[in-house]
Amino acid sequence: MQKHNFSAGPCILPPEVLQQASQAVLNFDNLDLSLIEISHRSKNFIAVMEKAQALAKELLSVPGGYSVLFLQGGASLEFVMVPFNLMKKEGGKAAYTDTGSWSSKAIKEAKRVGEVEVVGSSKDSNYNFIPKGYTIPAEVDYFHCTSNNTIFGTHMKEFPQVDTLMVCDMSSDILSRQINVADFDLIYAGAQKNMGPAGATMVIVKDEILGKTGRDIPAYLDYRTHIDKDSMFNTPPVFSVYVSMLTLQWLKDKGGVSWIEDINQQKADLIYSEIDRNPLFTGTAAKEDRSNMNACFVPAEGVNTEEFDKMWQEAGISGINGHRSVGGYRASMYNALPLESVQVLVDVMKEFERVKA
Ligand SMILES: *Cc1c(COP(=O)(O)O)cnc(C)c1O
Repeated sequence: MQKHNFSAGPCILPPEVLQQASQAVLNFDNLDLSLIEISHRSKNFIAVMEKAQALAKELLSVPGGYSVLFLQGGASLEFVMVPFNLMKKEGGKAAYTDTGSWSSKAIKEAKRVGEVEVVGSSKDSNYNFIPKGYTIPAEVDYFHCTSNNTIFGTHMKEFPQVDTLMVCDMSSDILSRQINVADFDLIYAGAQKNMGPAGATMVIVKDEILGKTGRDIPAYLDYRTHIDKDSMFNTPPVFSVYVSMLTLQWLKDKGGVSWIEDINQQKADLIYSEIDRNPLFTGTAAKEDRSNMNACFVPAEGVNTEEFDKMWQEAGISGINGHRSVGGYRASMYNALPLESVQVLVDVMKEFERVKA
């Protein structure tokens, strides 16, 4: 039975990408060898890495002066690498917004390295909105924000103008909508939400911001190491980079980021209009900040959802249980999830209302 995969991450990938990836595991580039048993220094794999970087640059219109890296350690290691690379050794300080579990983890790591000022937070309301109108002190080394809050279903529609370096965790909405990379100095994203399998993290960094902290940075944690070695300082996560490359190619062939942005908007409009219409469900995020990637909703008061849970499972829907910190349901609608899958979920929500009536 066809599954409608709403998993929050790792998550759905295009079927044609999975097909190509499984073939490459058996016989890559007609070498009669597997992709995962050849040297990462072989010309065949170097071509994969170069293509992945080139496709990312093309799809996101990355300007000159920026490097695109594929690293390991997930977005979680970026929580550490960012302050190491950007916070001054003497009197280092950064401004962060606290908009969800991932931001607060990033804040926790940055505090180990230097001073952190939380300039905006929605923690007191269980992160159900995006703080706005905050002031970023001029003297901070950088400002850090999270563009999409995967667990709480909010996203930043706009990014603040800053007089310092602009750093953003885009793990769960990279490549889902158009962004102007030139507005950012450093962007990072774990692959497993919109780009590929877990194991690779994409970093887009403006080269000139590096090397200014006076810190002695451990080699792996220093972005300059990876820029100098073209993401081949140590063995890269070859499978994850390869499948990310295939997904980037898929997105390019289909029509690129503006094409997918339009579909993602249609998917979000479809689910949110049903959440708002259906008296049995309530959306948890402030309407103006609702994420196009992760739609969170809970049963209305007194509604027993046992039947609903049976119905969506029977419809082939998978992965819509909410995160424990919000409860209810979370429909994650990453790039590879077709509009039809959202329609199936909406139909089940309507049918649940009908049988409950
Ligand atoms: C999933 C996620 C992370 C954590 O990524 P890992 O690769 O597991 O370290 C960080 N930030 C955001 C916004 C995420 O969605």
